[in-house]
Amino acid sequence: MALEPCTELPVKITADIPVLKERGQREVFCGLTGIVWLHRKMQDAFFLVVGSRTCAHLIQSAAGVMIFAEPRFGTAILGERDLAGLADANEELDRVVDQLLERRPDIGTLFLVGSCPSEVIKLDLAKAAERLSHRFFPKVRILNYSGSGIETTFTQGEDACLGSMVPVLPRSDEAGLMVVGSLADVVEDQFRRLFDKMGIGPVYFFPPRRAANLPPVGKGTKLLLAQPFLSDTVRSLIARGGTLLPSPYPLGIEGTTAWLKTAADAWNVDSKVFEEAIEPPVKRAKIALERYRQALTGRKAFLFPDSQLEIPLARFLSRECGMELVEVGMPYIDRLLMDSEIALLPQGTVLSEGQDVEKQLDRCREARPDITVCGLGLANPLEAEGMATKWSIELVFSPIHGYDQAADLAELFARPLERRRRLTV
Ligand code: SF4
Repeated sequence: MALEPCTELPVKITADIPVLKERGQREVFCGLTGIVWLHRKMQDAFFLVVGSRTCAHLIQSAAGVMIFAEPRFGTAILGERDLAGLADANEELDRVVDQLLERRPDIGTLFLVGSCPSEVIKLDLAKAAERLSHRFFPKVRILNYSGSGIETTFTQGEDACLGSMVPVLPRSDEAGLMVVGSLADVVEDQFRRLFDKMGIGPVYFFPPRRAANLPPVGKGTKLLLAQPFLSDTVRSLIARGGTLLPSPYPLGIEGTTAWLKTAADAWNVDSKVFEEAIEPPVKRAKIALERYRQALTGRKAFLFPDSQLEIPLARFLSRECGMELVEVGMPYIDRLLMDSEIALLPQGTVLSEGQDVEKQLDRCREARPDITVCGLGLANPLEAEGMATKWSIELVFSPIHGYDQAADLAELFARPLERRRRLTV
């Protein structure tokens, strides 16, 4: 959390949608949280957080309840002795890495993940990764990124992680589609089947399931984003020759169709082939979604800035579930990644960027929305005040992309409403 003087400035960023810009106290998790889903995605990667006991507690409590195998993350805790001198800290880090790689020969890629304690900031992790790579590459690739909570939100951890991999992607100028952003394996398989039916390929998913299987990038690479929080990664991929295909994100039926159509158009797929490929899953999704749409229609939603998924979610809630949007907050709005989504929001949607949490809470309490999407830190107090909430972090942990998950996504919002209804009868 950072405390800064508050400035409010309504700025027009796209036709008829003003943005309330706020800078003040924020309530978000830090980028270390990304390890929770990234370690499950990349089966041969290990995430070594270089941090404090607080970092170790955060990562253990966020991930500990969800894993049943030997963890592929850990924390090298900098102690008092390390503070005495950086040489000691570097030696200590090398010793921990030696021990780890000896004990875990299954590790193919090791990420050294920086955090925000000042003693860690002083440590040059890029140099440490380079030094250790000299010793362990090619058996183990060692990369580094920062998951620090200073001025970042939790999904930026994935952006930083993927960004650290971009420079080591192999070069190829062959035509190919790169889907950027981690997706649940089951969702990835569904998309791959649809791309195959349309004759789109080769298709690469980034991050890959094994960090050692890096996708190629170059002038023929078309970039299709599956997640809206990858600002730095996308720019690095563009700098390596990739071309961004701007598109809404594959949340809900409409978003998924628009996303697939963007790829289909880039591959000149015949519209009949496209329609035939999507017809069965669209039909299934419409039937499954209907039940939740009825429960959500006409209800009011307030989205606090947390995951960077807020605008695509708001678009889904409003256009496919009939919800009314009170306010849609985003930690930051990157127009390169967000314009296609903003264009789909209903006229007059109140968008806010950044946060001044007390003021935003006041606006929320005054509006008394039916559901509030927010981080864990705000959810409990709001629940205690009688308001139904949805933890935004759950939306990142759950498979929510694609046709077959559209109803599951709606259910994530319908469930707290039902729970609140039961509590109040
Ligand atoms: S990186 Fe910073 S914000 Fe995150 S757990 Fe460690 S000390 Fe806390």
